[in-house]
Amino acid sequence: MTDFIHLDGSQGEGGGQILRSALALSVVTGRPFRIDRIRAGRPRPGLMRQHLACVEAAARIGSATVEGAALGSGEITFTPVAVVPGSYEFRIASAGSTMLLLQTILPPLLLADQPSELLLEGGTHNPFAPPFPFIDQAFLPLLRRIGFDVEASLERPGFHPNGGGRCRVVIRPASTLKPLRLEGGAGAMPASLGAVVRLAGLSRQIGERELAVVRQRLGLATEHATVEVDTAAIGPGNTVHVSAAGEGFSNVFTGFGAPRVRAEQVAEEAAGAAERFLASGAAVDEHLADQLLLPLALARGGSFTTTEPSGHTRTNAQILREFLPVTITTEPVGPAAWRLQVDTQFVP
Ligand code: AMP
Repeated sequence: MTDFIHLDGSQGEGGGQILRSALALSVVTGRPFRIDRIRAGRPRPGLMRQHLACVEAAARIGSATVEGAALGSGEITFTPVAVVPGSYEFRIASAGSTMLLLQTILPPLLLADQPSELLLEGGTHNPFAPPFPFIDQAFLPLLRRIGFDVEASLERPGFHPNGGGRCRVVIRPASTLKPLRLEGGAGAMPASLGAVVRLAGLSRQIGERELAVVRQRLGLATEHATVEVDTAAIGPGNTVHVSAAGEGFSNVFTGFGAPRVRAEQVAEEAAGAAERFLASGAAVDEHLADQLLLPLALARGGSFTTTEPSGHTRTNAQILREFLPVTITTEPVGPAAWRLQVDTQFVP
C-alpha cells in the first residue's frame, strides 16, 4: 500500500522551500508525496527552472518516479525507491541557485553509507538563496559538529543572471551523530567580525565604497575587510558578506548587488543584518535557523537560540512534522531571541 503524503504547496510561507524540503524528506524516508498548489501565491506560480532542477536532482538521487515535472506545473507526485550515493553533476540553466539544489539533495546523501561527490553548476551567489560563503562558513561547519562529513569548495562564483558558477561537494558516511546545542549567543560574546566584498566585471571603486560603509558601520580594521575580484566569473556580479565568527562556526550576512542599487545600500544590507543579529544575543540567524531544522530532525535533534522565527522556519517545521516523528518547540528567551528545540524519534 502506498502511503502518500499530501501537501498543500501554498501553505505557510508558500515558496520553493516546501517543495525542496519535501523532496529531501521523501528521499530520506522513502515516503512518496503529492504536492499541489506549488508556489500558488508567487507572481509566477508553479515550477520554475530552478525548482524543476531540484525535482530532477532528487529523482536521480532517490531513483524516484515523478509525475507532473514540467515548467509551470502546479502539482507533482514523487515516489522514491532508494538513495543512490555516488558521483553526480547537476547544471542549472538561467543561473538557478546551486545552493538551493544542494539543500534538496544533501540530507539523503549525508545519511548514506557510501560517499558522494557532487559537481554543481549554475548560480552560487543568488539573491533570496543561501550564497556559497553562507553554506561554507555557517551551515556546513554546524553539520560537521553534528557528525556529518561534508565539505564544499568553490571553483568559480556564479552571479544572477549569468550563472556559470561551479562548486564541488564531497560527502563521506557520517560517524557518530550528536545533538547540536547552540545556547550561548554569538551576539552575547565578543564575536569576531569580518567583511569580504566580491566583485566580478565591475569597477573596483564599487567594492571600495562598500568597504568604506561596512568598516565605518561595524568598526572594522582595514585587514578585516577586503575586496576579492573574480576574473573567472561570468560577470557582472557583486556581493558583500559580513561574517560574525562564533565558536567553531560563523553567521554570514549578505548584501546582493543589482543594477540601479547603490553600492552603499548593498553594504548597508549586509552590515545592518549583522548589527541586528548581534544585538539579539542569539546564536544563529534567521536563515541558518530554517536550514538547520532538517539536519537536526534527521540526526539527534538539539536546540539553538535564534532571532524571531521566520515564515520559512515555521513552514519548514510544519513539513518536517508531516514526514518525521518530531516535536519542534519555540519559546522566547529574550526581547529579540527565541529558543528552538528539535526532539526527534527518527532513526537514521
Ligand atoms: P524559498 O524562498 O522558499 O525559495 O527559500 C529560500 C531559502 O533561502 C530559505 O532557506 C532561506 O533561509 C534561504 N535564504 C534566503 N536568503 C538568504 C541569505 N541572504 N542568506 C542565507 N540564506 C538565505
